[in-house]
Amino acid sequence: MFEFDSAEESEIRQSIERLALSEIPQYLTEDHYGTVPRKLFSSFAELGLTGLSIPEEHGGLEASPTTTALTMEEIAKVNLGPAIFLSVHNMVSGLIAKFGNDEQRARFLPKLASGEHLGAFALSEPSAGSDAAGLRTLARSQDGGFELQGDKCWITSGGFADIYLVFAKTDVEKGKKGISAFIIEKDFDGLSWGSPEKKMGCELSPISTLQFEKMHVPQTHLLGEVDNGYRIALGGLAGGRINIASCAVGLADGALSKALTYIQERKQFNQPLIEFQGLQFMIADMKMQLEAARMMTWRAARQLGTDATARANRLLPSLAKCFATDAAMNIATDAVQLFGGAGYVKEYEIERFMRDAKMLQIVEGTNQVQRAVIAREMQG
Ligand SMILES: Cc1cc2nc3c(=O)[nH]c(=O)nc-3n(C[C@H](O)[C@H](O)[C@H](O)COP(=O)(O)OP(=O)(O)OC[C@H]3O[C@@H](n4cnc5c(N)ncnc54)[C@H](O)[C@@H]3O)c2cc1C
Repeated sequence: MFEFDSAEESEIRQSIERLALSEIPQYLTEDHYGTVPRKLFSSFAELGLTGLSIPEEHGGLEASPTTTALTMEEIAKVNLGPAIFLSVHNMVSGLIAKFGNDEQRARFLPKLASGEHLGAFALSEPSAGSDAAGLRTLARSQDGGFELQGDKCWITSGGFADIYLVFAKTDVEKGKKGISAFIIEKDFDGLSWGSPEKKMGCELSPISTLQFEKMHVPQTHLLGEVDNGYRIALGGLAGGRINIASCAVGLADGALSKALTYIQERKQFNQPLIEFQGLQFMIADMKMQLEAARMMTWRAARQLGTDATARANRLLPSLAKCFATDAAMNIATDAVQLFGGAGYVKEYEIERFMRDAKMLQIVEGTNQVQRAVIAREMQG
């Protein structure tokens, strides 16, 4: 058990571990890949995990960033996919809780908390990824609200979510200061989505394109003020990055324990592989990277929980996201190496960790973008 866990957090960690181990494995089949299994999402809801970022008065748990971090870690230890769609759902719920008016909070949060509704976050576009402020989806004022026209891509839970937090330009002249945020319901006329993308890994967390064709959005569904959407998107960054770092820690932990078990059991040259010093050094290096990643992640989560407005919340989540996801990639790659030929075939399941880890270096700000943020913060 990690020393930062309080007794209460350890108990939560254990119940999430039990849930993840008992529920997730049944969905690791081709017929569930490219979907969000709603029964699995409902089983998360039964433990309150769909309401981690929602205030208690709206049916949520209002959990601390550390509780959220350990939730993502324990789920990702078993499989990354569910940790990703749950993390996005909680980010969207948290933003509606933070920036929504009373009516929006009362209308949307209870169903997000109970797991009746799944949330998705739609910022990226074909021509605007790292440079998210360059997005081109337009929201023109019209009677009673706005008309949305444009496309999004790579949207986690696209086609499966009930609520989409969508960012669009309300003033094309003002760059990032001309972006607004909208709460879009899945049955709005003019909303459509593509088939789930065929991707390298993370099969239990589908992504797709979204299209808005002359879609009317009522004024009631504008989140926050007009032209304040970029600030809202940034509002989810610290927690989102810590959650991705936590997913990386969980994934790396899962890969390392599988590799350790394997080299303790597999024999070559008449002795277990673990007896070879070269391999002992490999697993020692993997463990060092894992624990350093976990400490950075927990430090960032503790800081966010202590003072959500502190300037440190720009630096620490980027440090944790970048370090932990690079560590996860290294650890998963070495785990495959320790399995030898068995590492390269699907039957042993270790190759999945390597494919899944790659995603974490790209999402929630690529690791190049994180390094740019870190260097900028270092310069004050
Ligand atoms: C599985 C998955 C799930 C996703 N889920 C969502 C989601 O739910 N919602 C959503 O809105 N988006 C989502 N995304 C999109 C994701 O956020 C973007 O892919 C990411 O921000 C990078 O943007 P891009 O793909 O356009 O790459 P680009 O921005 O085109 O980057 C290409 C390369 O150039 C590098 N680069 C770019 N700018 C710089 C710079 N200034 N300095 C140095 N290097 C730079 C990048 O690091 C990268 O290596 C998801 C993506 C994936 C793969």
